[in-house]
Amino acid sequence: MEQTPKLAFVEQALAERAQQQQLRSLQPLHPIDAVRVTGYGQTLLNFTSNDYLGLSKHPQIIAAAQRYTAQYGTGATASRLVSGTYDIHLHLEEQLAAATGREAALLLNSGFQANATLLPALLDRQSLVLCDRLVHNSLIHGIRSSGARFIRYAHNDLNHLESALQQAVQQGVHRMAIVTETVFSMDGDCSDVEALIQLANQYGAILYLDDAHAVGVLGQRGMGLAADRPEVDIVVGTCGKAFGSFGAFVTCSRSLRQYLINFCPGFIYTTALPPAVIGAIEAALLLIPSLDAERLHLAQLSQTLRPELQALGYSTAASRSHIVPLVLGSETRTLHLSDWLKQQGILATAIRPPTVAAGTSRLRFALSSSHTVEHLQYLIQTIASWTDC
Ligand SMILES: *Cc1c(COP(=O)(O)O)cnc(C)c1O
Repeated sequence: MEQTPKLAFVEQALAERAQQQQLRSLQPLHPIDAVRVTGYGQTLLNFTSNDYLGLSKHPQIIAAAQRYTAQYGTGATASRLVSGTYDIHLHLEEQLAAATGREAALLLNSGFQANATLLPALLDRQSLVLCDRLVHNSLIHGIRSSGARFIRYAHNDLNHLESALQQAVQQGVHRMAIVTETVFSMDGDCSDVEALIQLANQYGAILYLDDAHAVGVLGQRGMGLAADRPEVDIVVGTCGKAFGSFGAFVTCSRSLRQYLINFCPGFIYTTALPPAVIGAIEAALLLIPSLDAERLHLAQLSQTLRPELQALGYSTAASRSHIVPLVLGSETRTLHLSDWLKQQGILATAIRPPTVAAGTSRLRFALSSSHTVEHLQYLIQTIASWTDC
């Protein structure tokens, strides 16, 4: 009998993507500084990076990573429960808890890994999850692998959320969780954390917030939109964005931290973060509370960009943060503008389905406090001079 080649699905999937003009590939870039890269044979002003405070190139942070590498080596050599917990891991966790005004903190190896593994540790097949329709893929991944039933409520629609909570209470669900983000990665809009706390309390639901785009940038001392809020059960922060390095952390109660150390596979069965990363996170954490001027500048950049884009007739959706989408709708126009900006020396990501809903293709500008007013003016002027043909 003729057998289909066992990897035929690979070629087929790639061909389908190519046919839909959605085949993606990796492009090498070389960083010059926090906002400029070389690539595509030129120097580009980068509006795609999540290095919101420019810390990935900060001399103090680089020095801290080098110092811990010299003192502790390049690897932590084992998982945390075996022999991969050094004094610097525990010390950093205490500092993270103190800085965020939360009871305890636990490091995880990335934001994706945190969401993918924390949710299954907290939920079971009998649980019900209510999550915002626009949450990040890693949260969906975690919810699905928990086996819990889940309902995606309309984006930021707390009436929809509340009616789902009411129904669940009537049905007698034994464990419920509300899962959402504080700043949404594709729209740059924010959740109403106070209202979510209220709903979670009222209906006895676990409140799980992904603060990936807010830590470092928003909230008290730049420590995120759930800082100083013990009512939020679980807050996930990443160190790959505003912290300028890598890794992630969860802040929670002491007993929940203890529970995760014992029951969370993605914490238990993986090598601890390396000393260089611990050094970088620690140095970033020392700097971040003092960066109010940078955060103000960053806020002013987005407060300039949004009305300028709107004056040119473009939608910036409900953005209220340093993430500013320019929603064009059509995939072709989005790709045109992205290509054209590249020709003018500007790097801006085109975001298309399936990452966002059909008909909402967009460019996503991620601003950094390392962008100058001149950088922003150049972006605005360049967009203004684009003729779509
Ligand atoms: C970037 C991001 C993550 C993933 O964090 P990494 O540390 O990059 O793995 C998780 N959640 C949200 C909302 C994000 O934007």
